[in-house]
Amino acid sequence: MNRIYLDNAATTKMSEKAIETMTACMRESFGNPSSLYGLGQQAKDIIEEARVAVASAINASPKEIFFTSGGSEADNQAIISAANIGRRKGKTHLVTTSIEHHAVLHTFKKLEKEGFEITILPVNSNGIVDLDEVKNAITDKTALVSVMYANNEIGTIQPIREIGAICREKGVLFHTDAVQAVGHIPIDVQSDNVDLLSSSAHKFHGPKGVGFLYAKKGIVLTNIIEGGAQERGKRAGTENVPGIAAMAAALTESIEKMDDAAKRETLLRDRLIKGLSQISHSALNGDAIRRLPGNVSFCFEGIEGESLLLLLDDKGICGSSGSACTSGSLDPSHVLLAIGRVHDVAHGSLRLSLSEETTEQEIDFAIEAVSDVVNHLRSFSPVWRDLTEGKTKFIL
Ligand SMILES: *Cc1c(COP(=O)(O)O)cnc(C)c1O
Repeated sequence: MNRIYLDNAATTKMSEKAIETMTACMRESFGNPSSLYGLGQQAKDIIEEARVAVASAINASPKEIFFTSGGSEADNQAIISAANIGRRKGKTHLVTTSIEHHAVLHTFKKLEKEGFEITILPVNSNGIVDLDEVKNAITDKTALVSVMYANNEIGTIQPIREIGAICREKGVLFHTDAVQAVGHIPIDVQSDNVDLLSSSAHKFHGPKGVGFLYAKKGIVLTNIIEGGAQERGKRAGTENVPGIAAMAAALTESIEKMDDAAKRETLLRDRLIKGLSQISHSALNGDAIRRLPGNVSFCFEGIEGESLLLLLDDKGICGSSGSACTSGSLDPSHVLLAIGRVHDVAHGSLRLSLSEETTEQEIDFAIEAVSDVVNHLRSFSPVWRDLTEGKTKFIL
């Protein structure tokens, strides 16, 4: 059976270029970058070349790039650093949104326990943050505003440039979790007015366990990992040289391909959206226009997302449900609740995320498979029976 991989928002397949770069580095450049002999320096050179490539991909300078173990670490370090900078100036207020990744939200909760005041901004029913809400949330105590570039579940792209401009005008640091955006849509930290940006290699066809944090010149980072003086003293631990090299290769390749890939994916995305919209009592989550090229997210009334995923897996389709079943609980996704989906509807969610390798045949197969499985699940769903018999009311 063919496997149809439509979960690129969870992770991507490494590109051949990234795999080659990584294995060559493992075989030939295995020295410790901190060692003074040639083999060590060779590894150090690879890291510094990668830093130049990564910096140029987001229009930063190499000194502003810090390699991390991934998006979560970069989010933690960015937010904790900004909070500490604020605290030293008596600024103890932090602003974020209700649809952030848990790496952001949980860091905010931790800082709240440490005495920071936090504001969590709502989003509209399309999942977009309102600029006036951002403006009004900022006080003279605000140290940081953190708004994700693009959402991992519903694909909405935020007005980052405008939010950055507001923060700059008010003298507040601005962080963006750009894990879903980097390598997929154009990013320019200068014109986007961004002070701190997080990114992760495995979301753009690089390896897992490596990412980077951009910190604008002048921002003093707090160490999350103490130890050696790697990454200019801001991130201890022997560098993940093969991972960093492969990340740079994957990112360079993604940037080269970006325009074509985005055009291609957008067409297929809209074909998939159109196809799934034919299913009765269904709804697209997120904004139809301000949306990542590869993201499709739907809710289907009267079914369980988990059952849908398992049956799609039987048909060879890898997808995801919005409801992250963290620690065994089946709480629906905080993102779907934030855009106003009620619990029952949020439970019937499906995210399919494309890559530039996705084909039209795969999309057409997926449309038919999802329609079949949704109809099948509804045929024995008590929730669906109550809906069709008028005992409960349809929402979608
Ligand atoms: C995947 C993801 C992360 C976490 O990145 P890791 O490298 O897996 O730690 C953070 N934020 C967003 C928006 C993501 O999609």
